[in-house]
Amino acid sequence: MEEIFSNIKKSAASAVKKSGELLEITKTKMAISDTKSELKSNFAVLGKLVYEAQKNEKDFSDEAEEIIWEIDELYEVLEAREARLAALTNQKVCPDCGKVCEKEAAFCSRCGKEYPLVDEEEEEADE
Ligand SMILES: [Zn+2]
Repeated sequence: MEEIFSNIKKSAASAVKKSGELLEITKTKMAISDTKSELKSNFAVLGKLVYEAQKNEKDFSDEAEEIIWEIDELYEVLEAREARLAALTNQKVCPDCGKVCEKEAAFCSRCGKEYPLVDEEEEEADE
C-alpha cells in the first residue's frame, strides 16, 4: 500500500484525481472479491452442517438460520459494493437481474429491462 501511495504522489498533479479513482476501483474490486469468498465459505459451512445433521439425524435449523442470516447480510454488502464499483467505472447495475451495463444503455443486456434515462447527477455514496 505504501508503494502505491508514493507512486501516486510521483504522478503529475492532473493525474492525481484519476489515480485516486483507480485506487478506489482497485480497493472496491478487492472488497468485492473478499465478500464473495466470505459468501463461499459460509455456503461451505452451511453445506457441512446439512451433511452432518442429515447423517446424524440432528436438527440444525437454529445454526442454519444464523448462517443464512449472515449470507443475506453479505449479499447486501456485495450489492452495495458492486453498485459502488459500477458508479466508479461509469456503469450501472440492473435493478432487476444485477447485470452490470454501460451507463448509457437503454436496456439491460441480460433481462431486457428498460432503464430510465440517467441524469448527470451521480449516485455518490460517500462513506
Ligand atoms: Zn437486467
